[in-house]
Amino acid sequence: MSDSGVEWEVVDKIPETPSSNTFVFSPCEKAEFSVGQFVTVGTTITRPSQDGGTEEDWAERAYSIASSPARDLVEICIKTEKPYGYVTPTLKKADGFAAYFNEQVRKGDRVKVRLEKRKDHFLYKVASGLEKDIAYWSGANGVESARGLIQWMEDRPDLGIRLLLFYSNPHLYLSETDRRINVIYYDWLIEKAKSIPNLKVVLTFTRDSQIPVSDHPHVIYRRGRFFTAEDGTPEKTLTKYRGTADGVFNPICGSSGFVTGVVAGPDGGLVRRKGMIQNLAEIEGVGTEKMDREQFYLDHAHG
Ligand SMILES: Cc1cc2nc3c(=O)[nH]c(=O)nc-3n(C[C@H](O)[C@H](O)[C@H](O)COP(=O)(O)OP(=O)(O)OC[C@H]3O[C@@H](n4cnc5c(N)ncnc54)[C@H](O)[C@@H]3O)c2cc1C
Repeated sequence: MSDSGVEWEVVDKIPETPSSNTFVFSPCEKAEFSVGQFVTVGTTITRPSQDGGTEEDWAERAYSIASSPARDLVEICIKTEKPYGYVTPTLKKADGFAAYFNEQVRKGDRVKVRLEKRKDHFLYKVASGLEKDIAYWSGANGVESARGLIQWMEDRPDLGIRLLLFYSNPHLYLSETDRRINVIYYDWLIEKAKSIPNLKVVLTFTRDSQIPVSDHPHVIYRRGRFFTAEDGTPEKTLTKYRGTADGVFNPICGSSGFVTGVVAGPDGGLVRRKGMIQNLAEIEGVGTEKMDREQFYLDHAHG
């Protein structure tokens, strides 16, 4: 058990989608961080045990800060990946975190938080002013740091940051029959794209046949995977929506499959496909110095 770190109090819990919540924290002292940094959040959670009962354990995970460093309250958004009660076959126990945190942690609770201290953290080139012209690539879970960045653009318009957000989700809605939006920050992003002059969002849905019709030039909808046109041929997605790939800085955030194309296969071995990194390099000619990445977890072929 580890309980090092500072205490932050949950002052609000806002449902974002059926499987994710924004937790708004009041740190006891003003939290000093830069855009793109993450925190490790720990608490005692109750999970199903092997004997059919429950057991309490200390557990912690990493979460990107999803709010502006210029604000007093700090937000993170937690999405359940492993379903509630899921027993990891190798460990033979329920070892998830997000499902239980989302269920059990409420307004008024306190959790332990440690800020990551790496100087070359995700988006450090943006935080330090080295890069201002940004194309941010997000998987279905991965947009949290972009939200912090957008809030920062609101707080610091003098910095002249330009952001083109590419955001990929399988579907807009939870299911054919349950029409709840299943895209984290969907309405918020559209509202901000319409009100912040330097922000554009490209929302792509990889498995929807119908997509919404845009009513604003800064809100763009597309179908299918990035870098693949609707007829299946390779597409220069960055060039298409940005005009050029030259000079643009490309942070990439999501699961391993999205970022690098690597997933764990059914036998535990790694399967290597193409992720955003390979596509940006091979199709758009983007160099590694113009990319940045944050990987949330290793995808499993079944996940
Ligand atoms: C730097 C960093 C920043 C992060 N920021 C965020 C953030 O802002 N928001 C956020 O939600 N997460 C973030 N994560 C991921 C986070 O740490 C947790 O991994 C995530 O909350 C999932 O927790 P979990 O308890 O559901 O699954 P975990 O116990 O953490 O396990 C993740 C594993 O579950 C597997 N899995 C996924 N779906 C299934 C499924 N259907 N069935 C079985 N297994 C499955 C995945 O393959 C993965 O290997 C971040 C991770 C890192 C390293």
